[in-house]
Parts: sequence; C-alpha cells; structure tokens
Amino acid sequence: MNYEENKELLNKILPKYTSEGVKNMINGVSSDAKSSLVFDNHSPVDDAFIATVPKSDADDIDAACQAADQAFKTWRKMPHKERRNILYAIAEKIEAHAEEIAVLESYDTGQPIRFMKKAAIRGAANFKYFADKVIDAPNGLSTPDTEHLNFTVRQPIGSVGIITPWNAPFMLATWKIAPALASGCTVVHKPAELSPMSATLLCQLAHEAGLPKGVWNLVHGFGDSAGKALTEHVAIKAVAFIGETTTGSMIMKQGAPTLKRVHLELGGQNPTIVFEDADLERALDAAIFMKYSLNGERCTSGSRLLLQQSIYDDFVEKLTKRVGNINVGDPLDPNTEIGPLIHSSHQKKVEEYVGIGQQDGARLAVGSGVRAGAGCYVNPTLFVDANKDMRIAQEEVFGPFLTVIPFDTEQDAIDIANSVRYGLTAYIWTKDTGRAHRMALEVEAGMVWVNSQNVRHLPTPFGGVKYSGIGRDGGEYSFDFYMETKNISIALGDHKITKLGADS
Ligand code: NAD
Repeated sequence: MNYEENKELLNKILPKYTSEGVKNMINGVSSDAKSSLVFDNHSPVDDAFIATVPKSDADDIDAACQAADQAFKTWRKMPHKERRNILYAIAEKIEAHAEEIAVLESYDTGQPIRFMKKAAIRGAANFKYFADKVIDAPNGLSTPDTEHLNFTVRQPIGSVGIITPWNAPFMLATWKIAPALASGCTVVHKPAELSPMSATLLCQLAHEAGLPKGVWNLVHGFGDSAGKALTEHVAIKAVAFIGETTTGSMIMKQGAPTLKRVHLELGGQNPTIVFEDADLERALDAAIFMKYSLNGERCTSGSRLLLQQSIYDDFVEKLTKRVGNINVGDPLDPNTEIGPLIHSSHQKKVEEYVGIGQQDGARLAVGSGVRAGAGCYVNPTLFVDANKDMRIAQEEVFGPFLTVIPFDTEQDAIDIANSVRYGLTAYIWTKDTGRAHRMALEVEAGMVWVNSQNVRHLPTPFGGVKYSGIGRDGGEYSFDFYMETKNISIALGDHKITKLGADS
C-alpha cells in the first residue's frame, strides 16, 4: 500500500477508538477501569489525540488475575489439538488484519510502516510456531535407574503476568503470549502506557478467533500502579518482562515476597565489530541497518561500531555519507526510513545525548538533534572518534544514534566490547574463521551474529547476560520458563526399604 492508502486505512479505523477509547479485556469482557479513570494517548507523528486509555489499578489487576486463575483450570486441560487450533486461528486473524495492525502500530509508536508490516506477519508466525509445539510441550526426559524408572513431564506453571515495552509492542506481545498459551498458562498482559493500541486489537482478535474467556486478559495502565500490582499478585506464578534494566530490577524486588519466577529482557549497548578482512560493503549495510532501523529504538541494535584502525577513515567516510542520506519522515510513508520517536520525553533524552557526546569530546559527524515542528522527530546522529569510556558508549540512548570507536588488535576489540554493563547481542565481521570463533566465545553477550545482522530464528534462545537480562526465550527455552518440570519415579520391583520402628 502507498502512503495515501495507509492514511486512508488509518482514517477508517481510528474514529472508533477516538470516540469510544481503548478498553481492558477481563474475563472476555471489554471494560473500563473500575475507577472509570482514563489517560489520553497521543500520536508521536503529529501529537494528535488518538484515544482514552483505562488508568487501571490494583482492583482491575485483581479481577484479571482471578479470571486468569479460574480459566487456568480448564485451559491447561484442553486437548492439545484444540489448543493448537485456537493458536492457529489467532495467527490467521493476525494475518487477515496485518495491514490494519501495521498502520495502527505505526501511528501509535512512530515506527516506519516498512518495518511494521513485517512485524505483524512475524507476530502471526510466533503463534503458528508455538501452535505446532503444543503437542510436544509436556514432553520430558526419561532417566531410568536400575530399581526405578524416572521420567519427567512439563506442566504449565499457572497464570502468568506479561509486561511489555513501547518499542515493538505488537511483535513483542506475541513473542511472550504465544508460548505462554501454548504451554497451557493463562495470561494477564499489561502493555506499555505509551503504546496501547495494537495490544487492544491483538486481544480482540484472539477472542474473535475463539479463545475462551479469561485465558488472555488485558489490563492497561501505568507501571507503578497496574504493572506493580501484577508483579505482586499472589495468583501470578511468573512474570515475563521486557523493558529497561532499572524496571527489571524493581520487578524482581516486587515479585520477591510471592517468589515469582521472572524472565527479564532488558537494555543493551551492543557492539558491531568490523575487522579489516571483512566484506566491508556488507558490514556497512548491516551496521547502518542494525542502528537506524526501527528508529534505533531496538534492544538488539548495534549502537557501538568498533572499526579496526586500518579501515577506519574510509569506512567512516562512507558511513557518514549514508547516514546523512537516511530518509526521516511520516512513518506511514513507505519511503520513510526513520519516523518520530515514541514521545517528546524520549525525543528530549536523545537530543540531550547529542550534547553529552560533544562534551565528552567525540566528533559529531551527522546529526542536529530535534527537528522543528509537530511530532517527536530527531535527525539520525553519528558520533565518531569516540572512546569506550564516554557516556555515549556506555549508556543506552535507544534512538537513531551511533557511536563509532577505533580499535587496533583483536584483544582491544574484546576489551572495548566488554567494557559496558550490558550484554545482549554482538555482531562480528571478519572472514577469518578462527578469529570469528575466538571473538564469539570471548564477547560478553547472550547472542552473537557473525557476518550477519540480527536474523531471528524462532527455535534459538533469545536473551542477554549482565544487565541485559535473565533467562531465555524461543523454542524449548520458552517452555522452561512457562512450565514446571516434574519428576516421576516408579519402582520397577521390590527394592530395599529401610525399616524403622520394626524392632519389637
Ligand atoms: P520500561 O521499563 O520503562 O517499561 C516497560 C514496561 O514496564 C511498561 O509496560 C511499563 O508500564 C512497565 N513498568 C514500569 N515500571 C514498572 C513497575 N515498577 N512494575 C511493573 N511494571 C512496570 O521500558 P520502555 O521504556 O517501555 O522500553 C524500552 C526498554 O526496553 C529499553 O531499555 C530496551 O532496551 C528494552 N527492551 C529490551 C528488549 C530485550 O529483548 N532485551 C526488547 C525490547 C526492549
């Protein structure tokens, strides 16, 4: 669809939300917050009002958790084929509404439509992938002993809380919710307050696809009220969280009294490391893509570019030209490469880092901060000649903002790469196989790509080390989180039992 068609579709779907507001979904019923309080949601594209959103609190969370707890009793026992079919039906609904989801997400978050169309389809793929795994999810291990046959089964942990951020809200929600439902868990989802739209549509579609009431509950609201209450609720057995490192730490604390299992996917300051022997053209394409796609609001983005000295000047020259050429504009325009950031507060934060980089002594090769006019736009920013200790190399800026650092040797590259508190991803570019292996082993990250941008394969583990998180998602790894492993031991014969109190 072209720009005009995207705008036309948006204008068709928005009025309903604008007049009625978005709603919670508790026990299959679309509802306002019990308090009737709401907050306004605006678009970062043009600051226009989109819809009111329920300002839910602990009472609403309690109702949702009770509904999820009740629904768990039957959902966990639903025949696998039926559960699988429902997950498939949800995927098909998503596919049928992919255009609608993409324009809504784009207008609500500022993410360019060129990426959002793929995100909707990826959301459907998440449901299909986990639908196919429903049948195998309970499978465990057989560990026979001489006198006992031991085997394990996996059983759903119970009702789970899922808390998601604003940067890729639709895709990330499906990523968490699909494996939870496939496991037999029921869900209470608290989406980010800055991007409530696609979560609402997703939950509606799931119910239209035949999901029983109470299995998936949606509660809008702020982190310090609705989010906090969810992490503290006694009926919730585990919390899957995606967001900032500081929030993840609070969630661990809040969940501690009720012994919550937590899975935390947090921030990053990921290195892209380019050696002189790499395919430099491909490395340049990937380095630019991994920082400036999705507005740079991407946890896995390569925000530090480490370049070997011998290729430094030439690479920086080409990089500067390309970054200066990136097309910033209305995210509904398919030609747009960077749209507005999520909110004016985030726009301000990214702009502040332009000043911080200059104060620190790095050279601003491209970028001039905020764009004038309506919308939360910033220009793509490129800092070069930086060093590992600068704040723009240490802190997560989470915008279209790249910091370039030179290095000499392999050991230098490792030292710089590992000098941050984060450890989510790393991207290594070299044609030397031995070096690729050495670097991949030495770099502190949960995921490493060699000669590649981030390409997600659903069975692989996704997650970070250090301050980037705890736990892994994806394939079987998701079942480790959403399920309990139970060992069952069966005596094979009349093995010895020590008799106590048998002396007369
Ligand atoms: P955030 O931590 O501010 O908010 C995330 C969610 O947590 C929101 O729904 C918010 O309402 C909720 N929340 C806030 N305080 C809470 C509390 N005390 N208790 C419970 N819930 C609470 O994050 P954000 O600004 O929305 O998202 C950006 C961050 O997410 C970045 O740091 C980014 O790196 C990270 N992220 C990580 C991954 C990953 O897979 N590692 C993926 C995407 C985003």
